[in-house]
Amino acid sequence: MGTVIRLAGQIDAEPTRAAVRGLAAYASHAECTRGRRHAEPAAPTRSEYQRDRDRIVHSTAFRRLVYKTQVFLNHEGDLFRTRMTHSLEVAQLGRSIARPLGLDEDLVEAIALAHDLGHTPFGHAGQDALDDCMRGHGGFEHNMQSLRVVDRLEQRYPAWDGLNLTFETREGILKRCSRAAAETLEAAEPGGVGRRFLDRTQPSLEAQLCNLADEIAYNAHDIDDGVRSGLITLEQLEGVPLFDTYRRQALAKYPQLQGRRLLYESIRRMLSTQVYDVIDATRAALSRARPASADEVRAQPPLVAFSDAMRRDSATLKQFLFRNLYRHPQVTETTDLARQVVRELFAAYRADPAQMKADFAARADSARAVADYIAGMTDRFAAHEHRRLTGRSLFA
Ligand code: MG
Repeated sequence: MGTVIRLAGQIDAEPTRAAVRGLAAYASHAECTRGRRHAEPAAPTRSEYQRDRDRIVHSTAFRRLVYKTQVFLNHEGDLFRTRMTHSLEVAQLGRSIARPLGLDEDLVEAIALAHDLGHTPFGHAGQDALDDCMRGHGGFEHNMQSLRVVDRLEQRYPAWDGLNLTFETREGILKRCSRAAAETLEAAEPGGVGRRFLDRTQPSLEAQLCNLADEIAYNAHDIDDGVRSGLITLEQLEGVPLFDTYRRQALAKYPQLQGRRLLYESIRRMLSTQVYDVIDATRAALSRARPASADEVRAQPPLVAFSDAMRRDSATLKQFLFRNLYRHPQVTETTDLARQVVRELFAAYRADPAQMKADFAARADSARAVADYIAGMTDRFAAHEHRRLTGRSLFA
């Protein structure tokens, strides 16, 4: 556990290599990783975080993100975001912010691409239903599940379960964690990724950055998908300051602009401004705090942040999307069905575990095995299984 794969002499070489890559002292330096749970020799050409990113891209769970709901169910339209396109957008935004701050882009990309691997089919409705089903069996939470996917559920290596990722990538994937779950993690891996939730310390800057890139990404793409689906309108968005500022800017420069192009130009300007806002606010926080290493970052309060004004505007936009999109009758109607599918699948597999794939059916921790099995499903596989097991088709 926690084996450091650093080779003799690498520490001396580290500042030079890091400087070549443009990394700041407070960045996560791949040469100084806290290592992998199972020791592996270093790769000849790739950094440890590049390897993590590559392992995630090749994983089964990553491929399934294509067919998992973000907000709109996967079968509702081919142009809406899925977990896959969302994760790619988070990685893009994350890298845009990481480079000017001198942070490790490969680590940011690895965390961003893995951050939603634990999501159930049917988005948050699926996770809530599964959490209800798992009451009395330890509950279900998608951040913990993302960690389970990379630590255990991926089966690609002869000698161990999971992808054997570095501590820093796993730390970033575990964005949130309850105290009870942190204690369980700490017991299994003392001083590991559960520890910071007991000590109330922060993760690396790269991990902090991914959280904010996630928020920037979904706020923007949910406006886009929301307007294109017809569930929210450009007129409604005039009441949202963060969007309206850029809509007005775009119209001042291109008075004839309307429809899709007006939408895209407004979102493009909004995204750029948020990215520059995070870079500026974080630079200011870093110059006040002056952390000299990634470990000094962990002992500080959060350093990657929006300016106060942007934080307020972003919160207002979130509230707008919550009320008008996530709680839109057309969205809640399908999410109610999704909840029912997950509940009935859970009951069916609990009653007859042999209906699952053999390695899940054989597990002794049967409730958790069912949760792992359902969580790994794509929307369409879950709908197909539901039809097979109940004889009913809930989605038209
Ligand atoms: Mg996300």
